[in-house]
Amino acid sequence: MGSDEKCGVLHGKYEMGRVLGHGTFAKVYHARNLQSGKSVAMKVVGKEKVIRVGMMEQVKREISVMKMMDHPNIVELHEVMASKTKIYFAMEFVRGGELFAKISKGRLREEAARNYFQQLISAIDFCHSRGVYHRDLKPENLLLDEEGNLKVTDFGLSAFTDHLRQDGLLHTTCGTPAYVAPEVIGKKGYDGAKADIWSCGVILYVLLAGYLPFQEDNIMSMYRKIYRGDFKCPPWFSPESRKLITKMLDPNPNTRIGIAKIMESSWFKKSMPRSLKIKELQEFDEGKGGKGKIPESLNAFHIISLSEGFNLSPLFEEKKRAEREELRFATMSSASSVISTLEEVAKTKNFNVTKSDSCVRLQGQNNGRKGKLGIDADILAVTPSFLVVEVKKSSGDTLEYNQFCSKELRPALKDICWTTSTTGNSVPA
Ligand code: ADP
Ligand code: MG
Repeated sequence: MGSDEKCGVLHGKYEMGRVLGHGTFAKVYHARNLQSGKSVAMKVVGKEKVIRVGMMEQVKREISVMKMMDHPNIVELHEVMASKTKIYFAMEFVRGGELFAKISKGRLREEAARNYFQQLISAIDFCHSRGVYHRDLKPENLLLDEEGNLKVTDFGLSAFTDHLRQDGLLHTTCGTPAYVAPEVIGKKGYDGAKADIWSCGVILYVLLAGYLPFQEDNIMSMYRKIYRGDFKCPPWFSPESRKLITKMLDPNPNTRIGIAKIMESSWFKKSMPRSLKIKELQEFDEGKGGKGKIPESLNAFHIISLSEGFNLSPLFEEKKRAEREELRFATMSSASSVISTLEEVAKTKNFNVTKSDSCVRLQGQNNGRKGKLGIDADILAVTPSFLVVEVKKSSGDTLEYNQFCSKELRPALKDICWTTSTTGNSVPA
């Protein structure tokens, strides 16, 4: 250990604590920021070791990957420091341990498995949309926070699209055999997105079964089974989960299911009560039923957790994220009027509008600093007459997005935004 750590304080800023875990290259410690008093997870990588095995590039890549990733289900990177012999990553401290620890106590119920799986797919979808593939997805790299939310960690093996060879496929063999896709073992070039989906399929299987789909004492026979996609589902798997897993564990990456289709699958969509399709919302508007799908009334907790006016989380650690990327507001207006308001804003700015399931997407036509500005508005029904709209940047420059929000979107939404006496006439945050 370096002298920095011996005295227990790193760079005069972090008090180093106990070891949280070991990885392939790194040791992860608990540490405390002396200024803020906040806990972080400090990942320490020895420089010599890293350079000796030619891993410096990989570490640099890890830094840039993690800095790009700002998603509730991805471990956040606060800062990177270096001493003579070590590199330090100060990361968001995730307190609930590894998802792995949960499974080692036994398989999960379908609802619990679905909940983790939905969060995993949401994080992976986010990474893939930015050209980043994880490539080492396994339960050890899935952490849980205090509320039981899933956080993906360990981007050490990720590669960018621009690192791909000319044929657009990845060539490094990496990852852990039990979770690795057949084309990765086969060492043919492979598609990182499809390889991640395979790993997610194995993870889902493990969550529901409590054991691995491809497990053999002999590594060659394990590879053979992976190659053929030769596995059996235990009798307690529901027909829908069986169907989804079979599509994900398709040994042929070309026919393997993609993220969009996973999200559309009936198993995935079950018990996401707040995210109704726009069509269903419009049926509510027209008084045509859909009753029973969403609650008729709200309790205080719903309102507090869903309306921006009451939302306390931005006051704390979520502040940065909330300010930059998300705008959330509640409304008593109908889904149709939310949509037409968005359409009007789009029209004045010459943006294109597309509507999918529960999302309205605005897309600028002019190239900004980081390409065309894309904005997604998700409309969620809390009750038939109480909607929550979440607006997020899907592409383009954050500054341009913020300007669009403050100059165009917020003023337009003012009239339909739900407010109470406590929040006054506050504009959606
Ligand atoms: P490696 O890239 O070397 O595999 P990881 O990033 O996977 O290292 O970290 C190794 C272990 O340290 C993890 O499996 C986990 O138990 C623990 N760990 C990693 N990141 C965090 C974090 N942000 N919060 C809490 N524990 C963590
Ligand atoms: Mg790891």
